[in-house]
Amino acid sequence: MNVFTEISDIRIQRWAEPLTTWGLVPTMGYLHEGHLSLVRRARQENDRVGVSIFVNPTQFNNPNDLVAYPRDMERDLALLQEAGADLVWTPTPEMVYPPGYQTYVEVEKVPRPLEGAARPGHFRGVATIVAKLFNVFQPQRAYFGQKDAQQVVVIKRMVEDLNFNLEIIVNPTVREADGLAMSSRNARLSPAARQSATCLYQALLAAKSIFEQGQRSADSLRAAMRAVIESTRLARLDYVSVAHPDTLAELDMVEDKALLSLAVFVDEVRLIDNMLVDGKQ
Ligand code: AMP
Repeated sequence: MNVFTEISDIRIQRWAEPLTTWGLVPTMGYLHEGHLSLVRRARQENDRVGVSIFVNPTQFNNPNDLVAYPRDMERDLALLQEAGADLVWTPTPEMVYPPGYQTYVEVEKVPRPLEGAARPGHFRGVATIVAKLFNVFQPQRAYFGQKDAQQVVVIKRMVEDLNFNLEIIVNPTVREADGLAMSSRNARLSPAARQSATCLYQALLAAKSIFEQGQRSADSLRAAMRAVIESTRLARLDYVSVAHPDTLAELDMVEDKALLSLAVFVDEVRLIDNMLVDGKQ
């Protein structure tokens, strides 16, 4: 496994064997099984696997969140080696956004609700860094987690609109044994908050359960999620949503498919989770 900070080194390695297929896994580091599941899948489906580790400042609307974001490069590189990565890019912020930098990618509609409403500018930063990663690695496939459902919708839109010549592969959310979606942010939870943090998954299960019993009113599904959060110690609801999985527009009635999602502050740590439901399945 080769690890480089310079873009030119990534390009040299990428094009050393022009006929190989490349899978790219973009990450912000502090890796866990969620990230590694993407690397392993990329390993199976491509000749070579590239990974980026970069805590992207332009997607953080809250400067404290950027400073508090956990980092452990040595451990990350050991995990990537074990999972079968070939090439890792670990740039500095100055390399990605040098002095005079002024170009950003703005997807117009799908970034507006949910995470985009709660975190202004977040998806402009995400789309920009992902476009840059696609240009640096020029992979045939790029791997993302369903954990960040809106991110997937935004990136798929960007890929189609800007004619990026690659396939977006989405992997299911990897969870702890009690259902908490794995996230680098979980490291910041106190023991008491960690216990409460399962409320996101419990809320999704509560809504899914009444959906499976035939409930199609989106308000009833939202209320089921809200009730779980409101009865959990240390939890403060940011939003709950029952939206169309592709447009992310809020629904009145669920026709067949819906994306259930929510954001919750547990103590001071903001967590997100989601689940797709499909009445036809
Ligand atoms: P991040 O380092 O948080 O930017 O995440 C990098 C990639 O890993 C993104 O595509 C995430 O959606 C994905 N990811 C993060 N957590 C999980 C998880 N628990 N299960 C599956 N994928 C995940």
